[in-house]
Amino acid sequence: MAGELILVVEDNERNLRLVRDVLHHGGFRTIEASTGEDGVALARRHEPDLILMDVQLPDIDGVEALGRLRRAPETAALPVVAVTAFAMKNDRARFLAAGFDGYLEKPISVRLLPAQVQRFLTARETEAPR
Ligand SMILES: [Mg+2]
Repeated sequence: MAGELILVVEDNERNLRLVRDVLHHGGFRTIEASTGEDGVALARRHEPDLILMDVQLPDIDGVEALGRLRRAPETAALPVVAVTAFAMKNDRARFLAAGFDGYLEKPISVRLLPAQVQRFLTARETEAPR
């Protein structure tokens, strides 16, 4: 089960390094992008098992990047989790409504992240067709 490929899209270098280190320590492989457009391109090329998508990015934001992934047949079904620092109460519903498969709030928990990622991967595998 270990070794799943996680695409991390994050423009803050410290955050990116932290998430990468934690995921590697948890047995995952990563590919990384610091812009939305690069993230979309990497997703097309590598079809990762899961995408952790920062919402606030320097070019297109995470919601637009998600839209591009969903509109392209080869990336439409990839699980994408929004990662956001927005502390607003209704964000979760808003991001799920936008089509994200899940939601992680910053600051990322070093302790919890591997299990959270595993849960998103497992949820995707066992999800019943609707
Ligand atoms: Mg950001």
